[in-house]
Amino acid sequence: MNILIMGPAGAGKGTMSDLILKEYEIPHISTGDMLRENVKQGTDLGNEAKSYMEAGKLVPDDVINAMVEERLQQPDCQKGYLLDGFPRTLVQAEAFNKIAEKIGKPVESVIALEVDFEVLKDRITGRRICSDCGAIFHIRNHAPKVEGVCDECGGTLTQRKDDTVEQLTVRMEEYENNTKPVIDFFEKLGVVKHINASRDKKEVFAEIKETLSAFE
Ligand code: AMP
Repeated sequence: MNILIMGPAGAGKGTMSDLILKEYEIPHISTGDMLRENVKQGTDLGNEAKSYMEAGKLVPDDVINAMVEERLQQPDCQKGYLLDGFPRTLVQAEAFNKIAEKIGKPVESVIALEVDFEVLKDRITGRRICSDCGAIFHIRNHAPKVEGVCDECGGTLTQRKDDTVEQLTVRMEEYENNTKPVIDFFEKLGVVKHINASRDKKEVFAEIKETLSAFE
């Protein structure tokens, strides 16, 4: 099953990806997570990406394309992939479409999550992430039992540096300018499913499952 999940920051890509993984045996490949891991480890790639990420800007296409191409060659992608946060520009989409065809894993479904800006603002500013296991919480809608502590593993909950209203505005502009053309690109291939993701996560996931059932 070869899936892309798309949507602006706070649309629920991470949450929906976790639910999809529990259902299907494919790896969740998030370019944002890969980049953050590289920044944490202080790799050359991480050092190059850091300033773009902190400014809410996109990391250059050639860096991202090479990183994803390398990741898709790994054995856990044999049954397919769930790509999250990529492709984010038309250049990435065109490059990726060629790579996906070449390795015999063409995109089957693009899940496009759509959310109102006010809902995104609330989700983003309240989001807290476990620095150890990556579990996602929200200070009001999905609060941990103990403030600042992960329910799953006891790790420390942190706020991403770019989870502010200012950065959200920049990231939304990036999304509008760069990612809409990507959705249009896949629209022409007839693989896009638009989903209203302002709703409760159970409802959103039910619709995703129904969409993906066609590819099982
Ligand atoms: P995310 O966690 O998906 O919101 O990504 C966080 C940041 O990583 C973004 O604001 C970008 O700076 C960078 N990033 C992640 N994926 C990409 C991509 N496909 N192309 C360019 N930059 C990316």
